[in-house]
Amino acid sequence: MPETRKTIGLVVHGGAGTIERSEMTPEKERKYRGGIEQALTAGYTIVKDGGSSLDATEAAVRVLEDDPNFNAGKGSDFTSAGTNEMDAAIMNGKTLAAGTVANLKHIKNPVSLARLVMEKSKHVMMDGEGAEAFAKANGIQLVDQKYFFTQHRWDLLQKTKAAEKAGPSGSKKFIITDQDLHGTVGAVALDRDGNLAAATSTGGKANKLPGRVGDTPVIGAGTYANNATCAVSGTGDGEFFIMATLAHNVSALMEYRGMNLQAAAQAALEQVAKLGGTGGLIAIDKNGNVALPFNTSGMYRGYVDPNGKFVVEIYK
Ligand code: ASP
Repeated sequence: MPETRKTIGLVVHGGAGTIERSEMTPEKERKYRGGIEQALTAGYTIVKDGGSSLDATEAAVRVLEDDPNFNAGKGSDFTSAGTNEMDAAIMNGKTLAAGTVANLKHIKNPVSLARLVMEKSKHVMMDGEGAEAFAKANGIQLVDQKYFFTQHRWDLLQKTKAAEKAGPSGSKKFIITDQDLHGTVGAVALDRDGNLAAATSTGGKANKLPGRVGDTPVIGAGTYANNATCAVSGTGDGEFFIMATLAHNVSALMEYRGMNLQAAAQAALEQVAKLGGTGGLIAIDKNGNVALPFNTSGMYRGYVDPNGKFVVEIYK
């Protein structure tokens, strides 16, 4: 009988770009930490009990999609038209199978539809009405757009619009924080069979044009998993993550340059920064090493250490 592997691991993020330190209250901190902890619990219970990394990442991301404090599922950012349009992806590091969805308006848990696309369709990527029709045909109930409404994201849309209208001269009047600019949720995991998986879900960016698609559902940009190297989930300026092919870069630097996970993750993020992008990523390799670099003021993040202890962090 093959020996059971001991190394398992899970890392989650709730977006790079955190609330300003000066604005953080014990109550707010409890909410953000609580969300990350719940996501870790959901995912870690699965890999600890011998379940798959795919199930673990999907479960962790669903928790954060349901949490209105994070920019994914309920609590997603608004487009310039005042709608919510969500993107998500999931990838299986064993087979390189992937499922991604974009511009969803009525799906409560976009990550689960991404998984369905991966497992039940002959495609990798689906968007908009077609993706939602596919969801319906497979028994996923659609929800009204109202479900995604949160007052804080609505207020952020108004602030972003006003700031963009005022241009650089308005920068003193409208303070746009790191948290205003960023947000996404994601998870990466390693299971007892040595399989890696990555999942990411986002509401995108406040005041994005309807139809805009970010890096999250672009395999190799915001999401990537490959058993030969690592699993990656990113958060940040989607356009730059796409241009820099961030997630695949981490894997490629390990595979072709022989870099370790930490160095590869850092180097890939530097490529994003060189283009002018900010953000962060979480990654785990086939040996259970983790990396969580970011170049913003903070990143909501957590991982399970080798002793099974949950580590949750917000700032540097
Ligand atoms: N990467 C996301 C997007 O561009 C946003 C973020 O993570 O801040 O859609």
